[in-house]
Amino acid sequence: MAKTVLVVGAGLGGLATALRLAKKGYKVEIIEKNGQAGGRLNQLKKDGFTFDTGPSFFSMSYEFTDFANDCNITLPFKYYSLDPLYTVSFRNNPKVYHLYHDLKKLAPEFSEVEPDFEAEMKKYLNKSGRLYHDTNVVIKSNYNSLLHYLITLPRVGPAHIGTLFRSFWKQVSRYFSSNEAREILSLVAFFLGRTPFDTPATYTLLSYTEFMHDGYFNVKGGMYKIVEGIVDELKKENVKITYNTEIKDFIAEGSKLKYVVDTTGKKWGADIIVINADAALFRGKVFSRKEFSEEKLDKMEWTMGSLTMYLGIDCKLPEIQHHNYYLGTNYREYAGKVYTSPNIDETPYYYVNVLSRSNPECAPSGSESLFFVCPVPDLRYKKSWNDRDDIVDKIIDDFSKRTGTNIRPHIVSRTIYTPEDWQSQFNLHRGSGLGLSHKMTQIGGFRPKNFDEHFKNVFYTGASTIPGTGLPMVMISSKLTTERILKYKNQ
Ligand SMILES: Cc1cc2nc3c(=O)[nH]c(=O)nc-3n(C[C@H](O)[C@H](O)[C@H](O)COP(=O)(O)OP(=O)(O)OC[C@H]3O[C@@H](n4cnc5c(N)ncnc54)[C@H](O)[C@@H]3O)c2cc1C
Repeated sequence: MAKTVLVVGAGLGGLATALRLAKKGYKVEIIEKNGQAGGRLNQLKKDGFTFDTGPSFFSMSYEFTDFANDCNITLPFKYYSLDPLYTVSFRNNPKVYHLYHDLKKLAPEFSEVEPDFEAEMKKYLNKSGRLYHDTNVVIKSNYNSLLHYLITLPRVGPAHIGTLFRSFWKQVSRYFSSNEAREILSLVAFFLGRTPFDTPATYTLLSYTEFMHDGYFNVKGGMYKIVEGIVDELKKENVKITYNTEIKDFIAEGSKLKYVVDTTGKKWGADIIVINADAALFRGKVFSRKEFSEEKLDKMEWTMGSLTMYLGIDCKLPEIQHHNYYLGTNYREYAGKVYTSPNIDETPYYYVNVLSRSNPECAPSGSESLFFVCPVPDLRYKKSWNDRDDIVDKIIDDFSKRTGTNIRPHIVSRTIYTPEDWQSQFNLHRGSGLGLSHKMTQIGGFRPKNFDEHFKNVFYTGASTIPGTGLPMVMISSKLTTERILKYKNQ
């Protein structure tokens, strides 16, 4: 059996795969470009505040439980469910929609705009639930080839063929007639980094995970506790993590990768090398594969860029829930422009997370730590971010107006990440926050594979390979990659 494993990247995918392999008896080592672990699941501590810098919740909690069971550990962090899952408000409308998990509590929120909401939602979730259960086999399988994937697909069942050709928006519109219900229920498509108008209807299965199957969860003390917990478990297994080490080059021997080489020229080798860096970009930039050249990558479909800001304010906002969406009044028009328009809307759509709402230890007493995410064009479409402060100020003013509290004079800590920062920190192509999109020709057998085309001893893990983006998918990815490695015979 091959004994040594080198993991390139200490994102959640790299950490989880490393622990799974260490528990199977492999001697594992991790190298990471940045000064701390977590990748996009990261943390900023500044001016007495703690901010989650990327993920602010997760769904499908059972994927974490499954991981803990596979590794024979107690899950090294505590999570709790959020209810309401989130709130949504529309510009120039005082009504704030509370998205409760319980349908009986949720239905009255829509009574004015969608009188039959409860019955419609039951039908919608019924279909989403069938999609969820029937697609499980596709999401949780490894594929040896495109053909292998294509012959697995029919196992999903003919009942769902329509959803392959329909958009998320069209699917939601079949069940609900009001713009409010359609817009709110299709918002989850933005979590996949695209819009409801170009996200396949198959992903309405996410509504089932939100409202029926599981819900949304936050982690006691902040999302970064997930990373700290797994890093602690890795220490117990003597897995060393070397930080500030970026891989730029490689040395091969026949069909095997002998070494990856960092920016200082240092060589790092092992029997097996697992890449947690973006599976498309790494193939292009480090392995110089033509199919993943910069030109080819630019032609692929990427998820939106993220403009994120982390504000510490010295006052409380008791009326704001943990997760909140602030929408405008031109949903379809906005969705049409959001990827490409270099001049961001006068008043963008955005999301606000109040970490200190459920975790008071993340802000000084009497203060709040706020995290804003605004979907923006990636660096192909908006190259300069010199106007970032103006955009952020507009969002802050809009938020102040809509919440009734002018937070401007209360800001004591302010940090902004533009797509330039996301690109440079984590090697995300053109600053696309969630990597390659999930259109039908970029998922499953079409997505960058979790094994290398040329090097037998190289595997990939994380959101950029199968099954896709988001923390639960990354946990599934770590399982699929581990399964492949366990079958690898070190020929
Ligand atoms: C703003 C934002 C909000 C999000 N919110 C949520 C959410 O609420 N819920 C959710 O489930 N998901 C969310 N996501 C998605 C989630 O963050 C990702 O799907 C997940 O964290 C990806 O993990 P990963 O391990 O695959 O990749 P990454 O986290 O990107 O890890 C890859 C690691 O590889 C390192 N690396 C890259 N190149 C090299 C190199 N050449 N050499 C060495 N190291 C290298 C990087 O520094 C990084 O640490 C969000 C993402 C963003 C950007």
